[in-house]
Amino acid sequence: MALDVLIVDDSPAMRSFIGRVLDLSGMEIGERLEAGHGAEALEILNKSWVDVILTDINMPVMNGEEFLTAVCARGDLRTVPVVVVSTDSTGSRMERMLSLGAKGYVKKPFSPELLREELERVLEVSHGGNE
Ligand SMILES: [Mg+2]
Repeated sequence: MALDVLIVDDSPAMRSFIGRVLDLSGMEIGERLEAGHGAEALEILNKSWVDVILTDINMPVMNGEEFLTAVCARGDLRTVPVVVVSTDSTGSRMERMLSLGAKGYVKKPFSPELLREELERVLEVSHGGNE
């Protein structure tokens, strides 16, 4: 089943890099949607269903923390896993994002393998796979 993905990052270069990594990951990617900040991403989510969300933290207009809070407050999006992709990998920031509801965390810069592993882990957990 192809994976529909929403990539939220204020850097177009980072969005296309993540997109290329996904294309090369061996995972079957369906629709690839992109937003430059949280508010734009929420608008997309009003119209389109995705299987997983990858979000940056530091963005204008609506940052990743506000976006994550909004996603987790919406019942219809409760089952959609959110993976944070950020340069901010301090323990307190990671803990905060995970406590707000993020299912995974990838530190920039990351290798394609790392992003893929984290996505596979998150999707397996959210689809009820047990380890
Ligand atoms: Mg950013």
